[in-house]
Amino acid sequence: MTRYVFAWCFPLVPSRNNRLPRSFSIQKSIFRLRFQFPARFSLRRRFRCCIKILRHLDTSCNQPTLPLSVGDQWRHGSMQTFDYVIVGAGSAGCVLANRLSQNGKFKVCLLEAGPRDRYPWIHIPIGYAKTMTHPEYNWRFYTEPEPELAGRKIYQPRGRTLGGSSSINGLIYIRGQRRDYDEWRDLGNPGWGWDECLPYFRKLETNDLGASATRGDSGPMHATSVPPEHELVDAFIAASERVGVPRVNDFNDGRQEGVGYFQVSTKNGFRCSTAVAYLKPAKHRTNLHIETLAYATKILFHGKRATGVRYTRQGQSFEVHAKREVLLCAGAIQSPQLLQISGVGPAKVLSEFGITPVHVSEGVGENLQDHLQVRLMYEVTKPITTNDAVRSLTGKAAMGLQWLLRRSGPLAVGINHGGMFCRALPEENATPDIQFHFAALSADSTAGAVHDFPGCTYSICQLRPESRGFVRLRSLEPSEAPRIQANYLSTETDRRTTVAGVKFARRVAATEPMAGYMKREYRPGPDIRTDEEILQFCREYATTIFHPSGTTKMGPAHDPGAVVDAQLRVRGVEGLRVVDCSIMPTLISGNTNIPTVMIAEKAADMILNSERQGAEPTYVVNTSQVRASRQQEVTNS
Ligand SMILES: Cc1cc2nc3c(=O)[nH]c(=O)nc-3n(C[C@H](O)[C@H](O)[C@H](O)COP(=O)(O)OP(=O)(O)OC[C@H]3O[C@@H](n4cnc5c(N)ncnc54)[C@H](O)[C@@H]3O)c2cc1C
Repeated sequence: MTRYVFAWCFPLVPSRNNRLPRSFSIQKSIFRLRFQFPARFSLRRRFRCCIKILRHLDTSCNQPTLPLSVGDQWRHGSMQTFDYVIVGAGSAGCVLANRLSQNGKFKVCLLEAGPRDRYPWIHIPIGYAKTMTHPEYNWRFYTEPEPELAGRKIYQPRGRTLGGSSSINGLIYIRGQRRDYDEWRDLGNPGWGWDECLPYFRKLETNDLGASATRGDSGPMHATSVPPEHELVDAFIAASERVGVPRVNDFNDGRQEGVGYFQVSTKNGFRCSTAVAYLKPAKHRTNLHIETLAYATKILFHGKRATGVRYTRQGQSFEVHAKREVLLCAGAIQSPQLLQISGVGPAKVLSEFGITPVHVSEGVGENLQDHLQVRLMYEVTKPITTNDAVRSLTGKAAMGLQWLLRRSGPLAVGINHGGMFCRALPEENATPDIQFHFAALSADSTAGAVHDFPGCTYSICQLRPESRGFVRLRSLEPSEAPRIQANYLSTETDRRTTVAGVKFARRVAATEPMAGYMKREYRPGPDIRTDEEILQFCREYATTIFHPSGTTKMGPAHDPGAVVDAQLRVRGVEGLRVVDCSIMPTLISGNTNIPTVMIAEKAADMILNSERQGAEPTYVVNTSQVRASRQQEVTNS
């Protein structure tokens, strides 16, 4: 608002006519602002006014210093220099921005390619359906044709705004199992076992179940229990209990096995993204500069030392320099892409695109893991589902009132209310191998139009897939999406576990009291019976449940695929860490948002600790060094 006031107070007057070049107008959010310059203004002055206004209207924060163009920086000799430059304001980036700027000692710059999170549907949990394919707030990636999924390209949404994917996700609040983190530790990553991660899980949350040995009650992220108020979800829970799964109200104590209502990342009925939880309280700090619409195109190196980031904003190129470290938080698809473009990647990829290697790291972009979801849909005997509510005006009004008056109902908790973690192959797995997301809603595609009958969905996913894929450059153009190949269902175990999960869902649906509500199986349908038919159904209909990770995995020095060490420092270079879900060596058993926040909380502590111990050498930016690395770059290219 202050910026609008500034714009209007500026010595320009709103235009009465629209004659150019004396006037210009711009669309800002829902407002159309029109300006006309007084006749006495010279062309040069008009031009400078325009630039000033545009900068003020389009910069995301109240920082007094706005970046100068690269040319200006050289002319004025005042490069934008920070202690830390963070790329990506997603689940992890917002946490780092807050924690590293908290003590006031360090200057932090946060670059985010997307716009601010102003779109109202980001903040209302059911708005998930609106942001799922939104061209402005979503990167809308696709995989390459998947060989084991009938050659289909699978839609891979990713958040593109402050909060990143935590601003568009399904809000389910899950940590994973104790064994996931113990496995990370046993793979050669000291400090990453469950017992060492637990303090950070507790630190990051305010859990409405209250504090306990495993829960926190004073952290920025809110874990809110979905109110147990839906007759169909109750029936799902009762039927699951009858097939032997215990009822639980907390999936997050490390054991996970059980059925119940989920907890979601909301606060007072609104989405609690990391932008809301971490960035909002920090954004007025004078030592934190938040730059939106800033697309990082290259990590700058001086020799093997990361010294800053080049980014584009509205067609202009800028550079920011990091005295201490560059922190890459662009997510599992774009962190490896940016590393490869910047010269850190597999030899084959670098040579294919003629990129001069800064460091050959074979693991960058490899080890992609994701959860594949298979959705079974049923027609329900009674009109008690969200399908019925959203199809009628009174239903919609009732949902709106429920949200306004009690902050409950589908608007407040999103789509999936019930959850289950179970063992579809108990003879092979001592802990849950399948997760259920149960929704009193059905639609042909995720977030698509609901069916015109009362419906429900059992979405199942295998928790620890063995299939591995990759993210590799498609072109040297940073804005072009990389090639993503998840190789879903490429191992026998993955196929067997997924088929077993579908059969488990059918058992629950056929058990009372759930059976009484099931009118017919809409999909897969009664004709799909044998294991082969079920597998074929999965190949034709399964999609992702949006948890790509592992593409810059953490691991010990002797592992050639390990990109970062246990401190998340990129091996082979200096001054560069990756902090996001791409560092997971193996995908955790569940949804990945809260584990990513935990990773960032732990990373912030590591960075600040190494700072306290004076272990990190400070990189002094001086113009001659920068000029030298520029020269090196020009020679290389
Ligand atoms: C539709 C959907 C539903 C999901 N549902 C759930 C759920 O219910 N529960 C759950 O726990 N998890 C869920 N997830 C997964 C979870 O949200 C992600 O795993 C998590 O947010 C990943 O965090 P991140 O920090 O690694 O990446 P992100 O949060 O994706 O952040 C990356 C950020 O970097 C920015 N960026 C990328 N490239 C650049 C660049 N070159 N320059 C500048 N900025 C850049 C992006 O715009 C983005 O803001 C879901 C994800 C999606 C997409």
